[in-house]
Amino acid sequence: MVTPIPERHLFGPGPANPYPEATAGLGLPLLGHLDPDFLQIMDEVCEMLRTVWGTSNQRTLPLSATGSAGMEAAFVNTVGRGDVAVIAVNGLFGERMCDVAARCGAEVIRVDHEWGQPIDPQRVVDAHPDPKVIAAVHAETSTGVRSDIAALGRLKGEALLIVDAVTSIGGIDLRTDDWGVDVGYAGSQKCLGVAPGLAPFTINDRAFARRIERPQSWYLDLGLLGGYVGEASTSHTGRTYHHTAPTGMIASMHGALSRILAEGLDQVIARHEEAGRILQDGLQELGLELFAAEGSRLPELTTVKVPDGVDSATVRKELLTRYNIEIGSGVGPYAQTVWRIGLMGHNARPDTARLMLAALEDCLGR
Ligand code: PLP
Repeated sequence: MVTPIPERHLFGPGPANPYPEATAGLGLPLLGHLDPDFLQIMDEVCEMLRTVWGTSNQRTLPLSATGSAGMEAAFVNTVGRGDVAVIAVNGLFGERMCDVAARCGAEVIRVDHEWGQPIDPQRVVDAHPDPKVIAAVHAETSTGVRSDIAALGRLKGEALLIVDAVTSIGGIDLRTDDWGVDVGYAGSQKCLGVAPGLAPFTINDRAFARRIERPQSWYLDLGLLGGYVGEASTSHTGRTYHHTAPTGMIASMHGALSRILAEGLDQVIARHEEAGRILQDGLQELGLELFAAEGSRLPELTTVKVPDGVDSATVRKELLTRYNIEIGSGVGPYAQTVWRIGLMGHNARPDTARLMLAALEDCLGR
């Protein structure tokens, strides 16, 4: 029996695969993970990641895991039983941080903010006189809000500052070193435009020196990961075996980072800014109300209130089936009342923003 080709599949819409090269590429034989040519690719990825992180941290690497594992790596290496972790919460991912830190045994001091608002750095640092870590989400994907990490860095004192940059890296200004970020984790799938499954990670010497010696996780123990990216030199390749690197994923990240840096990081950020502005202005011209606080709106992730009397799911389904545009529902208490529209990576373009507006106008019958 022949399995019918679905109308939509992993590589996009349509009755036939429009990207045969991509599919074929995934099926080709890959370089071995200790092949010198692959190690060169890995070194270049780490170097390009330093540029997009805005850091000179030697320990900057793509963790073979999703953004959530990046979050776990940040906490499991920095907090143990009884350590105080002050965590700013203004959405789902700040909440997740609290759960992760608590599982590491930390005493979590949670500083809640209204969803849709940025964090208040002063309130966060006032929550405890001497925490081991302070943590915040730079770009809250659940609400579309950008928080001021530079201000938090100025106020952090002796604490280590952990920052979630999953939705900010490669999309908006991110300056790890200038802002005093000690540990950062991100994701491949947002503004970098790589398939999901890698977590760009960075940690500075100060945080590394204060890390937990034998963390609860073997896989995410940063003390063991050094040789994997070339810090130690114990074999003819200059690497120690830690785990088998997902070579195909690393190669795809190499491609994406090369494209970003060829276009120019500033230009890429400006492109996200412009696309977001066109979308947000256009939504308001359609009479819709934006959810995130003015002045803190992310260009790459726009949140907009579902108009009264409109069924959120019906419009999302129509956008998908008629225009092949997927937008997100709101999160948590806003699941039915907010839409989340991402313009990230290749999609962060004026023409995509205008297409989105026209499609939504049509689906809403405005
Ligand atoms: N942090 C933020 C801000 C996110 O947006 C996400 C995912 O959307 C995560 C963490 C978790 O990343 P992942 O889903 O890749 O595990």
